[in-house]
Amino acid sequence: MMVDIQTCKVKQCSKRFDFDKGGFDSSFGGYVCSAECAKKAASEAGRAYAIHDETDKIIETNADKINDKAGINLQKPPIRVKHSELKREGDSAFKSVCPACDDGMLLMRRDQHTFKLLNDDICILCGQHFIYEEMPNLP
Ligand SMILES: [Zn+2]
Ligand SMILES: [Zn+2]
Repeated sequence: MMVDIQTCKVKQCSKRFDFDKGGFDSSFGGYVCSAECAKKAASEAGRAYAIHDETDKIIETNADKINDKAGINLQKPPIRVKHSELKREGDSAFKSVCPACDDGMLLMRRDQHTFKLLNDDICILCGQHFIYEEMPNLP
């Protein structure tokens, strides 16, 4: 069993936690230990957050307050894309700007058991489902 210990990026918290058991990968860099800390980190960074359940359905977000694109593409059919042709978010090799809404992000997902990258993804903001025709060359 792999243990993935991360430190919460919210400075007042800085809790160390096992990422396999809980916590979130905040879309703007670093990990947070809880939904509460995800909200703090997002508001400190002036960014939107969206918290997903295991099926990637958005269960809570502040994006609708600052962005009317939240969830608008949830019911749309999947779009096939090449990861290499998407615009990268910042300097991340994984994260891409969502081509459907231009504000959301595709973070890439891993299989929970094998940790292999999955070939489909969901925008954290608009909820558009994407299928990668071509995957990045990453471990
Ligand atoms: Zn925390
Ligand atoms: Zn989107």
